[in-house]
Amino acid sequence: MFESFTTKILYFAQGDGYFANPGSFGIFVESMWKNIIGQDRVKKILRQTLESRKLPNAYLFTGPEGVGKDAVALELAKALNCLNSKDSIEACDECDHCKAIGSLSSPLLQFLFAQSKATKASSTESDDDDSKGFSDIDLLREQLAYKSQDPYHNIRLPKAINIGMPQIRNLISLLARSSTPGTKRIVIISEADTMRHDAQNALLKTLEEPHENTLMILTSSNPSRLFPTILSRCQDIRFELLSSEDISSVLVSNEHLEKEQADFLARLSGGSYSVARGLVNEDVATLRKQVVDLLSFALTRSRKNALEQVDTFLPRRGGTFLEKRQNVEQILQLLELWLRDALAISTGAPERVFNIDQLDRLERFASKFGEPLGLLEAVRAVDVAKRKVALQLQLRPVLLELVIELDRALVKST
Ligand SMILES: [Zn+2]
Repeated sequence: MFESFTTKILYFAQGDGYFANPGSFGIFVESMWKNIIGQDRVKKILRQTLESRKLPNAYLFTGPEGVGKDAVALELAKALNCLNSKDSIEACDECDHCKAIGSLSSPLLQFLFAQSKATKASSTESDDDDSKGFSDIDLLREQLAYKSQDPYHNIRLPKAINIGMPQIRNLISLLARSSTPGTKRIVIISEADTMRHDAQNALLKTLEEPHENTLMILTSSNPSRLFPTILSRCQDIRFELLSSEDISSVLVSNEHLEKEQADFLARLSGGSYSVARGLVNEDVATLRKQVVDLLSFALTRSRKNALEQVDTFLPRRGGTFLEKRQNVEQILQLLELWLRDALAISTGAPERVFNIDQLDRLERFASKFGEPLGLLEAVRAVDVAKRKVALQLQLRPVLLELVIELDRALVKST
């Protein structure tokens, strides 16, 4: 009885049921797609499909943020159009098609993502006016440049909440034109769940009547926000969290970190490469101390101190909106990891702890606030806060509400 309860708790503790990559297909695909970190199961599925030459009309890549959904979509786009590839399985990364797709500038590729719209400005973050110095188009170019250098980069634009009708309408008219023989048109809709409802409806028609020589790839870390009718028309491929070992070795080779630091950040990333890379230039130990302080203030009912602590998270008056948001996202990530660690300890699974250098402190925390259902509720509260930050609600109220929710979840349950 206890065992099944614990199993269930651990299932939830992984967040939407994502498990670390078991890596059991390593030998089979170790030579395939060297730009892609881990995801051996996904590579195996795609290799088999490419070999059989029976591609579906549309894929839906689901899984947590920062594990390579867009990166795999781009790699697939290259493989299918590479001028030097005989089998359309491996891309050379050097031909004109590979280069143009990699830099997101190929006419063979339509890459859609949430963009800003001036008319939405009044309803979003109003205390952040730092982005006014840049035009939206400058920021867009900058983000696309980041993405083309690193397909694991999560595109972040101020005031960009959704993919709207004009983008889908534009896509539909592009697809209506005839395609170039011998090429495959690829449409990638990144974080497709950010499509507005009218946009999803419009896209549905395109999915129902697929275009020749065209592959649609939707990626999403929140697929439940897509219409069931869209889900049912896409072949779902699920991406898992990356292993700490995989993330660490890429941090060593790409970011030139010492192994010890790379291991530390890889564990704290919770299986997301983009989170790990975002932590590279941060003073993570200090950041984590602030997070744990916030938690203890919130839970000792020292509300005034908790409010002050929230304000220490938002001090970068000179920083851009994106920097502030990234800072808050990192704090929420570390907070969630801390709570999941406490949950692992209280459910008798200390081997799952990420903050292993803080085991003593975690054990003290778990002995006080380790009631599993309370911790689960606290993790969910952090998830809600994350989503609100993603929706670009004002940061301070989101954090203050979170403090109250954490207190409710953890203190009431003790
Ligand atoms: Zn090529």
